[in-house]
Amino acid sequence: MADVIEIDGSVGEGGGQVLRTALSLAAITNREVSFSNIRAKREKPGLKRQHLTCVNAVAEISGAKVNGNEVGSMDLEFAPKGIKGGDYRFDVGTAGSVTLVAQTVIPVLLKAEKPSSVTITGGTHVPFAPIWEFFSLAYLPELCRMGAKVEAEMECCGFYPAAGGVIKLRIWPFDESKKPERYELNDLGAYKGGKVVGVVSAIPKSIAEAEVGIVCKQFRDLDLKPEVRSIESFGPGNYAYAQLDYERGSVVFSSVGTYAKSRKAVAHEVVTAVREFVKSGKACEKHLADQLLVPLSLFIGGEYHWESDGLWEDEVWRPNWTLDVQKETKHYMTNRDVIEKFR
Ligand code: ATP
Repeated sequence: MADVIEIDGSVGEGGGQVLRTALSLAAITNREVSFSNIRAKREKPGLKRQHLTCVNAVAEISGAKVNGNEVGSMDLEFAPKGIKGGDYRFDVGTAGSVTLVAQTVIPVLLKAEKPSSVTITGGTHVPFAPIWEFFSLAYLPELCRMGAKVEAEMECCGFYPAAGGVIKLRIWPFDESKKPERYELNDLGAYKGGKVVGVVSAIPKSIAEAEVGIVCKQFRDLDLKPEVRSIESFGPGNYAYAQLDYERGSVVFSSVGTYAKSRKAVAHEVVTAVREFVKSGKACEKHLADQLLVPLSLFIGGEYHWESDGLWEDEVWRPNWTLDVQKETKHYMTNRDVIEKFR
């Protein structure tokens, strides 16, 4: 095996994404990784349940030898052996995000030798993570556009703190012949319409109605259709999202309600997200941008070559893809740096 790759979890964004990206890439490149300072920039550093679930999930899929896989751990040794497709079940054990676990294991299982099915239990709609609708309507279609075949369904919503949300995935081995020569997310095409959805579980429907009303009122020109749903879950919960449909596909902007967050605050988060995106005139929403980097680097790729401007010779990476990103966020730049470590 080649040299151990050292990942300092305090770099850049300094959160869970550094770990998740490195785990996926470690398994796929079959490289041993030594992590330090995991989530050092977070209030409670070290592995939380969601991150630990990712570690154990990728370890199970890749037969890895692991040291340090405990809640709170800031150091981890991860030595994969080889990816095995199959039937897997992962339970976060809290309302930690199931979509973040999914985004960690999907690229790995796309590199397996046979199809896989995966069930993940935890939180489907939690703050600071892709909600289910973002994952299924915005992220997965782009992954499939890269040539991947992945199907997903949500069986049950899971909110903080009750959790119990369940998603199911079917993942087929990546077929190189289906891969496009280039991947571009530079143009969304014409706007076709959109909607604003407010969802509640075990709390008054009027909360979702208020959220949806506020968002729709702010964007009369977008002609957003209001939708309010009351659903069953293991505990109370609330979220709202706006979905803008373009020729290319859907863009999703969400906010998740919590005990301390008013309906106005939830609506305001959605309004701000939509407004900033539309104003940017860009094609690739900022969260989607950081999430597409791992699959793009793995499945679409690109090459290194030497370029000279007459004075200097530089090693330049020419990817076979372009993203017209809304914003190069810290998550985006950090993810790019972690990916570079595996080249
Ligand atoms: P922590 O910050 O506690 O370490 P974490 O493990 O959830 O938590 P981050 O490193 O912050 O990790 O990564 C969060 C991921 O969720 C990023 O990919 C980010 O783009 C995504 N995300 C955050 N908010 C949204 C949102 N509103 N819609 C879609 N994706 C989101």
